[in-house]
Amino acid sequence: MPTSAAENPYHLQRSAAGCLCCGSSNLQHETQIVSGFLAARAWGGPPQLTQLVCCADCGLRFFERGLSESEVARYYRSYRDAEYVRDRRRWEIFYTPTQHAAQVAWSHSAQRTEALRAALTGADAPLRFASALDHGGDHGHMLTAVEADRKAVFDPSARATLPGIDGYADSHLLPGGWDLILSCQVLEHVSVPAAYLREIGTLLADSGWLYLEVPVEQWRPAPGSDALRAAWLKLLLPSRPLLMVADLLCTASRIKLGRLPPLGFVAMREHLNYFTAAALRAILTNGGFTVHTCGINRAGQLFAVARKFATVNAGSDKTLSTITC
Ligand SMILES: [Zn+2]
Repeated sequence: MPTSAAENPYHLQRSAAGCLCCGSSNLQHETQIVSGFLAARAWGGPPQLTQLVCCADCGLRFFERGLSESEVARYYRSYRDAEYVRDRRRWEIFYTPTQHAAQVAWSHSAQRTEALRAALTGADAPLRFASALDHGGDHGHMLTAVEADRKAVFDPSARATLPGIDGYADSHLLPGGWDLILSCQVLEHVSVPAAYLREIGTLLADSGWLYLEVPVEQWRPAPGSDALRAAWLKLLLPSRPLLMVADLLCTASRIKLGRLPPLGFVAMREHLNYFTAAALRAILTNGGFTVHTCGINRAGQLFAVARKFATVNAGSDKTLSTITC
């Protein structure tokens, strides 16, 4: 039987067994909205209410609703192509081609690779690895920061990889035994993060290294009662123009000022989880990893460098039951 939230397979009620990172049941719920773009693309539905779950112990925030495997496949098919940008703009005024291009440019920037290199050096990782895999790594840009005899990317998008980097799009064909795995800007998209890390653990060699990176996304919640906000959001749902304006104001306030306005909301888009350093440490420790370093890297991203226990079966019930926040 499952022993923690890490085992919860139910994408519609992800908090059923507690916090996804530390297993705590000390959770608070806030009413929020699933974005019209996500709902339409992933399951063909209208925007709807959901809950944002906040863990009082490790600080993780996550949406109650996640995505099923088929919804993930629908949402990420032809991810960020021209049609994706056009459809997203139909719901999000602020998702302009300029913003999209800036996001792509940042993801391919030297700032990110230099931050990765510094994080590995700071964790006393080897200067050179026998093999390195970027899990979810697009065409392999982040691997340019790593010295390795063999490099590969796993990415279901099956994009062409950079020269000298092998590409895998089918998880069934992906071999194990990697000495270093990078997972950058992936975990915030995942409905069952502990299961994802278990998979990473099975791909790593014993004592292998893991570099994990997620965005820093923190804000002060909206003042006022949740019941009032829930009633207000329910009124907003049927009107796409009103939702779009409210989403613009709330997103601008959250990003620029670090807080939501009264009755404000955070729309559930493709980021399902918002991590803190304590949350990252908890989920890694519970997944059978030893955390070497964890913090904010030089590119302003939350990161952890960890190693797989050589003698522990990652994800075993015994490991998951030893929860520390
Ligand atoms: Zn927690």
